Amino acid sequence: MTVFAVLLAAGSSSRFGNGNKLLRKLPRGESVWRASYRALSSHPSIDSVGLVASPEILADAAGLPLAFAIGGGSERAGSSLAGIIAAPAGSLVLVHDAARPFACAALIDRVIAAAKEHGAAIPVVPVSDTIKVVNDSSIEKTLDRTNLFRAQTPQAASREDLIRALQENPSATDEASALEAIGVEVRAVAGVEANVKITTMSDLPNLVRTPTVGFGFDIHAFSKDPGRKLMLGGVEFEGERGLEGHSDADVVLHALTDALLGTVGCGDIGVLFPNTDPAFAGANSLNFLREAVELVGEEGGEIVSADITVLAENPKLGTNREKIRERISQELRLPKRRVNVKATTMEGMGAIGRNEGIAAMASVTVLLQ
Ligand code: MG
Repeated sequence: MTVFAVLLAAGSSSRFGNGNKLLRKLPRGESVWRASYRALSSHPSIDSVGLVASPEILADAAGLPLAFAIGGGSERAGSSLAGIIAAPAGSLVLVHDAARPFACAALIDRVIAAAKEHGAAIPVVPVSDTIKVVNDSSIEKTLDRTNLFRAQTPQAASREDLIRALQENPSATDEASALEAIGVEVRAVAGVEANVKITTMSDLPNLVRTPTVGFGFDIHAFSKDPGRKLMLGGVEFEGERGLEGHSDADVVLHALTDALLGTVGCGDIGVLFPNTDPAFAGANSLNFLREAVELVGEEGGEIVSADITVLAENPKLGTNREKIRERISQELRLPKRRVNVKATTMEGMGAIGRNEGIAAMASVTVLLQ
């Protein structure tokens, strides 16, 4: 089943005061709407993304690999409907607000999985404030908040259900309420507090976050097994001697994974992926990295940069350096210029200097809420 995402960026920002909030820059230098776009476009389960936007966002989107980029209306439901109609027939459609730049991949996974199984799904978070019904400045009653939740996006359902729901409910404030109104059951999955919607200037303090640095180190000896491949930074070094280890022994990804875990206080790679667990024998270390990236996202962290040093007498990184940067920037969902890869020899000193193995150090900067 095709999974298609519609990104809504047509809002006029009337509640935001000066300028389009979606063009505001986040700390890593990317605008709000582009961060939302990348959360969708980089997700492995999303086949393609279409944009419904205001003229200034459409101008900013020129050149991006979008399935379509069309103008939106003044009402959210109208813009959403236009995008859903433009999605491929028979697809599962996710509708996401461009004002939510911090939707992590794990959240998107949960929404897609639940929508595939139950037909429609949205992420929700519990209400922590006490909710009052107020009439003419007088409190009428206090609601029991046990069953009250705030709806987030992305919201997902089949294209055909969404079209029917929004055509019949043109003033719905989200897709789920339109679906509910036509009797489609909508599944609630766990949202993420960090997945905030930037609506007013007062939301901007949410963007003022604490930079946190994580550090990682790893070392592996060369293997005597001529069949082992040398993997560094997710890139195979063809014809080079491999490293010994339970997994694929990618020291660069191990150091990087540890650095990521360090930013959110989640222990180390050995705790998460024990080398006594046969499930991880020969494991592709990209899986460890992906898990760590998800953990950072779940903790509300935004990865800002990564800096890596490889310690080896041999081999030289050569042209693989750029391949490693490419690979890691994809995995961390970072612009390539925010991922640095360096190498040094040990000037013949110590175990690395005697060419007995390879080590790597990594530091990662994350902004935490
Ligand atoms: Mg290791």
